[in-house]
Amino acid sequence: MKKRAVFPGSFDPFTIGHESIVKRALPLFDEIIIAVGINTQKNTLFSAGERVRMIRDVFASEEKVKVETFTGLTVEFCREKGAGYLLRGLRTSADFEYERAMGQMNKKLAPGIETVFLLTSTEHTPINSTIVRDIIKMGGDASPFVPESINIKDYLH
Ligand code: ADP
Repeated sequence: MKKRAVFPGSFDPFTIGHESIVKRALPLFDEIIIAVGINTQKNTLFSAGERVRMIRDVFASEEKVKVETFTGLTVEFCREKGAGYLLRGLRTSADFEYERAMGQMNKKLAPGIETVFLLTSTEHTPINSTIVRDIIKMGGDASPFVPESINIKDYLH
């Protein structure tokens, strides 16, 4: 059976921190589905379609990476996709506390799915979509924080 992982997130926008986690996880799995969460409660800067487009551009030449949207419970999406692994990145102790609760609750909901955590690379620890979003909103240059193939200007309305 294929070793398939789902990497869920808001990715508003997708950063070099996210890119690094996916690239480092590639040798561990046969397929990684980057799952862009659609949360009607959350006001995002970029639409789900735009986020999918940005991420597809980044991994255009990587056959093992798929990009999809999802709604509802992440573990349900994993089941639908036949994915046995959830991939998450850990930056700080704050991330850890949140991820621990989420991971343990997901394990109760879906005992067959394992969450796999990768520690962020040192240089990506401060990179955070919320701050990148603020930089963009205030007209700053976000290019040092997003993958090279993403030209944020193409996505500004
Ligand atoms: P969410 O809304 O689920 O927190 P994010 O888009 O913020 O979605 O993050 C998705 C995943 O990527 C999470 O596991 C998060 O910890 C991880 N992540 C976010 N930024 C970085 C980074 N700079 N380095 C490594 N992992 C990161």
